[in-house]
Amino acid sequence: MREKNIEAKHINALIDEEISRYWNIESRSANSIQIYRALSVVIRDMLLKKHNQFKNFVNKNEQKQVYYICMEFLVGKSLRNNLYNLKIENETEIALKKYNIKLEDLYVIEKDPGLGNGGLGRLASCFMDSLATQGYPATGFSIKYEFGLFKQKIIDGWQTELPDDWLTTSDVWLVAKTEERVVVKFDGKIREEWTTSGLVIHHDYPTEIEAVPYDMFISGYDGDGVSLLRLWESKSLNSIDMNLFSQGDYIRALSEDSMAEAISKVLYPADNHYEGKILRLKQQYFLVSASAQTIVKKHYKKYKTLDNLSDKAAIHINDTHPALIIPELMRILMDDYGYSWEKAWYIVVNTVSYTNHTVLSEALETFDIDIVKTKLPRIFMIISEINRRFLQEAGSKYNDFNKAEQMSVFGYDKINMANLCIIGSHTVNGVAKLHSEILRRTVFKKFYEYSPYKFMNVTNGITHRRWLNQSNPRLKNLLDDLIGADYTKHPSKLSELKKYIDDDVVLHKLDEIKYENKKLLAEFIYNTYQISVNTDSIFDIQAKRLHEYKRQLLNALRIISLIIDINEGNTTHIKPETFIFAAKAAPGYYRAKEIIQMIVALSDYINKNPNIKKYINVVFVENYSVSLAEIIMPAGELSEQISLAGKEASGTGNMKFMLNGAVTIGTYDGANVEIINQVGEENFFLFGLRDYEVESLWKTGYSSIHYYQKSLKLRKIIDFLNKGIPSKSFESISKYLLGDSQVGDPYMCFADFDSYLDAHNKASSVYFDDKRKWNQMSLVNIASAGIFSSDRTIKEYADSIWNIKSI
Ligand SMILES: *Cc1c(COP(=O)(O)O)cnc(C)c1O
Repeated sequence: MREKNIEAKHINALIDEEISRYWNIESRSANSIQIYRALSVVIRDMLLKKHNQFKNFVNKNEQKQVYYICMEFLVGKSLRNNLYNLKIENETEIALKKYNIKLEDLYVIEKDPGLGNGGLGRLASCFMDSLATQGYPATGFSIKYEFGLFKQKIIDGWQTELPDDWLTTSDVWLVAKTEERVVVKFDGKIREEWTTSGLVIHHDYPTEIEAVPYDMFISGYDGDGVSLLRLWESKSLNSIDMNLFSQGDYIRALSEDSMAEAISKVLYPADNHYEGKILRLKQQYFLVSASAQTIVKKHYKKYKTLDNLSDKAAIHINDTHPALIIPELMRILMDDYGYSWEKAWYIVVNTVSYTNHTVLSEALETFDIDIVKTKLPRIFMIISEINRRFLQEAGSKYNDFNKAEQMSVFGYDKINMANLCIIGSHTVNGVAKLHSEILRRTVFKKFYEYSPYKFMNVTNGITHRRWLNQSNPRLKNLLDDLIGADYTKHPSKLSELKKYIDDDVVLHKLDEIKYENKKLLAEFIYNTYQISVNTDSIFDIQAKRLHEYKRQLLNALRIISLIIDINEGNTTHIKPETFIFAAKAAPGYYRAKEIIQMIVALSDYINKNPNIKKYINVVFVENYSVSLAEIIMPAGELSEQISLAGKEASGTGNMKFMLNGAVTIGTYDGANVEIINQVGEENFFLFGLRDYEVESLWKTGYSSIHYYQKSLKLRKIIDFLNKGIPSKSFESISKYLLGDSQVGDPYMCFADFDSYLDAHNKASSVYFDDKRKWNQMSLVNIASAGIFSSDRTIKEYADSIWNIKSI
């Protein structure tokens, strides 16, 4: 069903009206930016209306809703996604003929709202699509960062960061709801007053900051559902401090103002790494306080009580970043609505659920007690009381208060946010089977023993409507022809492709489609970098944040090893291969930036050496983002998912590549494990240590030197790095790999090196000696990807965590 039979001429009328209203010109003389804006506003208003109808229906039926709280939403571009989901792309294309413009020309105008770092924020966005498509009433809450994730530019081989001014084009998707603004309080003093009606809490001398909501609507596919993403902007409550102003301290009056507005200025650019900074704490509390106030206010207005909050609202915290919503809800229920501690606690725990996204210790958030105490005095009191009561209860149950103490929210003068989340939620989940198991076995062991019923797994997913139907139209068309378009709403039907496993015509078509997509990526690379890549080579791609645990370095070591072989004339085993990297490093993560520098140096070196370039090439594509991923994924043949086992919680890049027909070379880690279960080991190039082997090797004492001494290849690689590429020495990386008399690289690249080379050799012999078999492997990967649809993920959350029903 197409959106209410909208025809091209209706779209024209709406665009014309918008252009005339806004710019007071004839639509025929409008430029492409004006048409982009007019069309976007038309679609936005369509969605606004549709969302109102959806919401009215939900309210009438008193349906339970989900509120998804996340510091990051990596939404990607909106125009194409919404036109696709409303099923009016064709009609719009026809309408645009009037202005002599193509949809593609408008799509490139829009800038990605980069309101996230990577996988975490992209997951949240895929969830908004799957929630809407399946008719679940959902609101996402996040921050309207004026500057999203930085734009990456390589200058003289080094990553530099440029501001991302996404609002210059994507502001059209936002609707300001100024009248629904709320006030968030920081600082000040808490004063308790006993009155005849009980204890009253006063928050004296607070710094008050206004949170102004901006709403973005995300259309579901082919149905009535529309998700709302509410983004908060911070504003100084008194646009200027009149006191300071009248005292003549004009500059300070303004600077207070910019302190308030700093909260929603910029997204912290570190992925899987906590900062513990005051501004970050303020951002977190700002988000949860504004969101919690809104949820509670709306609920109370409708039901005139909060007793049934957990029956009508599921509040989900994505990672620990929004952990403070637990004490914030307690504050609102007790201080603003007069609930007792016990009653409030029962409601809060039954409303809140929490997803853990990492086991990396440097990513587990803590904040200094002193900072929380001064910035959020009331919240600090409540956290202390939550912890006191929990330890009391656990200590009595165990009859051992020292044992209970191991689960304390406080330790080493810090607040442990994950512990707070577990204590304050009814359900805690990991994001892939292996990850959930590791949580139970290690990081959350004590809590798992204490309350095993809280722990479960929900494996991540991606929306195949963006990551296949929209971004890989050739493959979509082939699938539509072969198995019908049902998989668009029922992704498990992708498995019907399996019946073509021996069909040479289909296998050939898959091959052709991949080739076309490789040509598109090659064109993009040529136009951007003037580097020509061999489209007959295998496209071997690693696209994800740059992180030691993800081991881009292992990939680079193999490239160096190939270069050494070629330089020595030892080329019989070398097959044409194009290595494509895309990765942003956190601006303060020196080691990661150095690895980028090395990859770029390898790329430059090869492109100046025709003898090496005959065989292999390396390209570093700047500024990895959703839009770039949409070009990269369809062209991938080998998907590099090579994290050290036990470190990658799930990964979703692995799923995107698989869905587009890439075969994975990877470790037994995160969702790779489940990919192997789906496709079979024969359709996956598995290598490396298992997570438990990594653990025991680490315990018995890992030493990279041991591998170095045994391997001529590794020794040559280290020599190569020390000598320089071609003259810039990478000695610091070779030192890192070997460690000076220490363990060496903690992510054990050397331990997995031989096994990695073996897996690659297997992959290239299938690819170059038996292309038919390769195409079959590719087909099995596409056909097995249905389970990794976020539609399945969301259904599991809805059924077993949130207890919400679809409409
Ligand atoms: C999918 C995606 C990621 C996550 O990639 P992983 O390989 O799972 O780490 C990060 N960034 C962008 C832009 C993505 O689209």
